[in-house]
This record gives sequence, C-alpha cells and structure tokens, in this order.
Amino acid sequence: MPTAVISDIHGNAEALKQVLADIDARGIDRIISLGDIIGYGPDPLECVDIVRRRCAWSLMGNHDFGVLYEPTNFNPSAESAAFWTRDQFDAETDEKLRAERYEFLGHLRVRVVESAPDGDTPILAVHGSPRRPINEYIFEEDARNAPDKMESLFERVDRIALVGHTHVPGVFTDEPDFYPPSELGDSTYKFLEDEKAIINVGSVGQPRDMDARASYAILHADRLEFVRVEYDIARTADRIKAIPQLTDWLGERLYEGR
Ligand code: ZN
Repeated sequence: MPTAVISDIHGNAEALKQVLADIDARGIDRIISLGDIIGYGPDPLECVDIVRRRCAWSLMGNHDFGVLYEPTNFNPSAESAAFWTRDQFDAETDEKLRAERYEFLGHLRVRVVESAPDGDTPILAVHGSPRRPINEYIFEEDARNAPDKMESLFERVDRIALVGHTHVPGVFTDEPDFYPPSELGDSTYKFLEDEKAIINVGSVGQPRDMDARASYAILHADRLEFVRVEYDIARTADRIKAIPQLTDWLGERLYEGR
C-alpha cells in the first residue's frame, strides 16, 4: 500500500480537504506530512486538527517552529501571520484542546528515516534540507550554480530524501540535476539503484511553481508519483482578505501559484 506525502499546507484547509479527498478516492490510508502545517493561511487550527487525525506523523517546518517558538528570518508579512496564528491557538477556550495542539506542535520531529512502503529503499524525510532540516532551501538553480552545496546535501542522503519548504515540486538527482514533474514520464520518478534523489513534493496550500493547484505525492516501493488537485482558491483567498493580520498578497498569490 503506497503512502501519500503532503507538505506545506500553511493553514489552507480548502486545499488540504481536496487533497485528502483525492487520497481517499485512491484508497490510500497512510499519509505523512513534511511540515509547515500552519503559517500564512486562515485555518491553522483546522489544519492542525486534520493532520493530527489523519497523518501517521508530521515533521516540524520553519513556520510550525515560528509559531511555537519564534519566527526567525521571517519577512514582515510572514512574521505578522505567525503572530496571528499563535493568537488563534491561544484563543482556544477549551483548555484541554489548546494544550493538545501545543503538545502536538512541540513533538513534531525534524527528521525521520523509514523504508519505502512494501520495499527496502531508505527514505529520509526533512522539511528543508538534509543538513539543515528546518530552514535550508534547495532551489532549482542550485543544481546548476551550487555544486558544492548539492554535494554536501547528497553526502547526507543514502538513496532518497523527501523535502518541502520551497513549495516547488520536482526531483534533484546527484548529477546534480533538477527535473520538474512535467519533465518526468507520467509525472513519476522511478528510483534507480545507482542514483540518489532529493525529491520536493511541492505544497498543498501555497504552490509556487506557477501552477495554482495543490501539490502532493504518492510514494511507492520503487517510485514517487506527483499529483495536482484543484480546489476553491477564492474561498481561501477571501478568508485571508478578511483577516487584517494576513496581507492580501497571501491570498492573491494563490491564484497564480507563486
Ligand atoms: Zn512552507
């Protein structure tokens, strides 16, 4: 049975629910989350509650960290969103539920290693990068411009790593090279015996590859398949617009996927 891999939900419950519907329709019952459940979006509590209920586990992203501890290196709009998000957690009047949510955030791991489903390929999962799991970005252009960085990242990968954080789906190979899903047959990357890969599954709640549809992936024993799902963007964008602490751009960017 394959595992669904979701990441960077960012408080966008509309997108998350459509992705879960797609996962359910495929009969997949195991879901893992690579972090950034919250931050930016209008539904942080709902998203955390859904992830708590539906995911086998979730990693800690820089936004989860920012809400729980302190936002580090955030731009003003992200920082304002982080403080607003924290206020939503604090405003919960059910004391037990409030404590459970904080406890959940506090126990998110930064790094998980497990085998591919029904297989033995070791899979490393981090939010950002294998060497700085919470905060380091791996950009498409790094494959061309930063060979030392890519080498250092791949030194820390046995075979396959799963990441999020940039919100741009695709596969980094140890050539190094980068392949967006559109350059892979059937949007699927087949694991090769003699090739390492760092795979970004894209973002559920704030895609940035100029495709506005929610992005996630399905992990099989020998391959990973990228999936896109449409959702009601206006519903999320309108809710963002109605919350003064969330800048309008956070809603507008959703229409363009950037
Ligand atoms: Zn993110």
